[in-house]
Amino acid sequence: MIQKLPDEIYSKLRKVLTSPFRVVILTHINPDGDAIGSMLGMYWFLKNRGCTVNMAVPNEIPQFLIWMEGAEQILDFRGQQQQVEEEMGRADLVFCLDFNEPDRIGNIKDILETSNALKILIDHHPHPADFTDFMISIPPASSTAELIYKFILDLDGKKGITKTIAECLFVGIMTDTGSFSFNSSEPGTWHAVAAMLEAGIDKDNIHSLVYDNFTEARMRMLGYSLQEKMIVMPQHRTAYIYLSREELDKFNHLSGDTEGFVNYPFSIKGIRVTALFLEKKNHVKISFRSKGSFEINRFASKYFNGGGHNNAAGGESKDNMDITIKKFETLISKYSDEINLAP
Ligand code: 5GP
Ligand code: MN
Repeated sequence: MIQKLPDEIYSKLRKVLTSPFRVVILTHINPDGDAIGSMLGMYWFLKNRGCTVNMAVPNEIPQFLIWMEGAEQILDFRGQQQQVEEEMGRADLVFCLDFNEPDRIGNIKDILETSNALKILIDHHPHPADFTDFMISIPPASSTAELIYKFILDLDGKKGITKTIAECLFVGIMTDTGSFSFNSSEPGTWHAVAAMLEAGIDKDNIHSLVYDNFTEARMRMLGYSLQEKMIVMPQHRTAYIYLSREELDKFNHLSGDTEGFVNYPFSIKGIRVTALFLEKKNHVKISFRSKGSFEINRFASKYFNGGGHNNAAGGESKDNMDITIKKFETLISKYSDEINLAP
């Protein structure tokens, strides 16, 4: 699927990247494994080329990713706004990784829009907005990390893929494919993984660091969610989980703790749409997933001010939890035929 990344971009980029540059790398709000993995993979690649590199995210890095090499260097805009502004002001080049529109970087958006740096987007979300000078947007790709792998390979060959870079990029591919259970049927993805193994990564250990590193409270919250807070609507082949702020607090919720919860209802035979509703301070944050041709990103963008991939999207609601869930249930009944008939 991903043969060669666009040549005209490389010929221009090669010129740009010949001398050491000041670079800032940005990724999306509530960053996930692909966001942070892509960011750090690119960070180490540019550092190895002699660039001065800074990284910034709109809010905190989830707990299950803080072990990654270089993660402590990432600036959190909420506490380090001034530093982010300074670095953005001095940057020659800004990489926008794993997001397709400026709204996805929260308050960093305004600084990006006024920045004079050359902006390069590398992403795999469909329908990218036109806000950068260069764009490598390949929606069928497993992950942005796979695109970064190709980017490095095209610029530097396999020698560019060091063990550290391979570890970062492997986290991106592994997490965005649900440990290779979806979006990973293209041989190119496995060629990339093979090259990462050749670079010396310990795949089993990385998997363990990401997935076997939670607190006991998080495990109990998962049990509670499935036992007490999962609603199944078999006639619409839909199931969802919802958690209030008090419940999240009760289980000492840390950022990233609910990652993956939205996928559990798929274990139930016949389920094709899932959702996870989390009560935040002023809104309800929603994750959506679908199986097959029902495009959950369109649903998320039409009704919940969100977006994402065809089968994995997110959104939010300013209504309270009860109203949000009622709206969701009503909409799901309306789309019942589409969900049931989707191949
Ligand atoms: P998650 O449910 O894991 O937070 O996100 C699933 C996918 O949807 C990711 O690709 C993420 O970038 C995208 N996504 C999540 N929340 C939003 C949102 O509020 N707006 C948009 N446009 N995309 C989102
Ligand atoms: Mn991604």
